[in-house]
Amino acid sequence: MAGRVIPEPYVYPTAPHVRRHGPDGWKDYRRYREWLRDEFSFRCVYCLEREVWREMREPMHIDHFEPQAIRKDLKAEYTNLLYACPACNGLKSDTILPDPCAVALGNSLRIYEDGRIEAKNKNPEGQALIDELALDDPLTVDRRRRMIGTLRTLAEFDWPMFVEWMRYPKDLPDLNDKKNKPPHNGKPEGVAQSYFEKKKRGDELPEVY
Ligand SMILES: [Zn+2]
Repeated sequence: MAGRVIPEPYVYPTAPHVRRHGPDGWKDYRRYREWLRDEFSFRCVYCLEREVWREMREPMHIDHFEPQAIRKDLKAEYTNLLYACPACNGLKSDTILPDPCAVALGNSLRIYEDGRIEAKNKNPEGQALIDELALDDPLTVDRRRRMIGTLRTLAEFDWPMFVEWMRYPKDLPDLNDKKNKPPHNGKPEGVAQSYFEKKKRGDELPEVY
């Protein structure tokens, strides 16, 4: 396995998320789903749960950073939309949390190998995320512990199975497709950086992430 980069399952970004995409003009926010999947790498921005870890009978949710109840005008604004798992989206409800596009969650939160999570230096942003989204719920902590241990074992002894858990989804969205074409796009250059396009170009898409 020499030289192989083995990604960890729970690593928050070390910088605020910078949006690569700028679709605009749809009135129904659900139209942005495929853009948000690509934008946030098929993961819940809050708890890092991945599409490929979930039974997809209940798909991931689209989260309104500024809740619909408070800012109706931002309901279909792409820059107000985040990608979140049903659990986080449900718990967040109408609260306003630290914005992953303004705050580096990797500076706010730390996840240990035994699944525990804590706010780095007791910072208020990290603590708010833990409290509001119950990221320290015992069941959630235990799930993380099992995932970390299982994936580490697979990485060492069953690489193909590790890949199945840590790969990109098979249905990468083709953002050039007619059905994904928004009325406007303020960042058309972002499409070339989408995972679908990277895969199409050949070896640019890593096997795991
Ligand atoms: Zn989540």
